Amino acid sequence: MGWHKPAAEALRVAPGFDLADLDTRSTPGWRGKKRAGRDAMATRGHELADLQEKLYAHGRTGGDRSVLLVLQGMDTAGKGGVVRTVLGMVDPQGVALTAFGVPTPEEAAQHYLWRIRQALPEPGTLGVFDRSHYEDVLVVRVEGLVPATTWEPRFEEINAFEREVVESGTTIVKVLLAISPEEQAHRLRRRLERPHKHWKYVPGDIDARERWPDYQQAYQDALDRTSTEHAPWHVVPADRKWFSRLAVAELVGRALEGLELDWPVTAVDVEAELARLEASEV
Ligand code: AMP
Ligand code: MG
Repeated sequence: MGWHKPAAEALRVAPGFDLADLDTRSTPGWRGKKRAGRDAMATRGHELADLQEKLYAHGRTGGDRSVLLVLQGMDTAGKGGVVRTVLGMVDPQGVALTAFGVPTPEEAAQHYLWRIRQALPEPGTLGVFDRSHYEDVLVVRVEGLVPATTWEPRFEEINAFEREVVESGTTIVKVLLAISPEEQAHRLRRRLERPHKHWKYVPGDIDARERWPDYQQAYQDALDRTSTEHAPWHVVPADRKWFSRLAVAELVGRALEGLELDWPVTAVDVEAELARLEASEV
């Protein structure tokens, strides 16, 4: 039971990966059922909190490292749930969540990477993007918001941009949460059947759903063109929520671990300060 293969390896997009062949109910790299997953998540939570606090301490003492989780997926794929789970396990002080929706007039007047740059995590921060610059080669392409001559060069531009981000000290963890159209229908139906979930529903969700094959093609191209050595894509089967949440927590945990940070060594004379504390009279 547990990870029989490192999640980063099991979920990473390898050359020749075909999204159409993915079993969205599978649990690559993980052996065990929901209960074992829940137990692993609890353990992982403590580790994650510790690792994130180390990153925060590193940032507070002049370090330049950070981690950026980029989440993509069709509506109802579970981006919100992943954000809640992963960020719910760490100190809110050290995290920065940005959700990218339809660009505001101010954003639309700028280059598409402008709003992304604004939201990049500061040193010591765990940043999370709920949607990202990838929308500019996904929805923008599928909806024909710009011509192919505009979105096509973006793959290379994104690769160069991400290289720059990585070189500045940020580890990028890119995750596509992949659900099946059947599971999406099920989740949208539940949303519509439950009044307290209506706020999440917009009729446009069905419009996007009707373009499922176009989105799959756009995602496939994005995976093929932008899964690089410096910022590889991971595809997480997401029909089982317990697995997708566990898998993303694992990917983020390993990325934090990969920074190999230690607790900062203080310049304070600890013995002297303890002596002062004992001597202080209040
Ligand atoms: P949600 O994540 O459910 O709040 O929805 C956000 C919506 O914003 C989705 O329909 C996205 O496709 C859309 N969106 C995000 N980025 C862009 C973009 N660059 N251009 C157009 N639509 C976008
Ligand atoms: Mg939505």
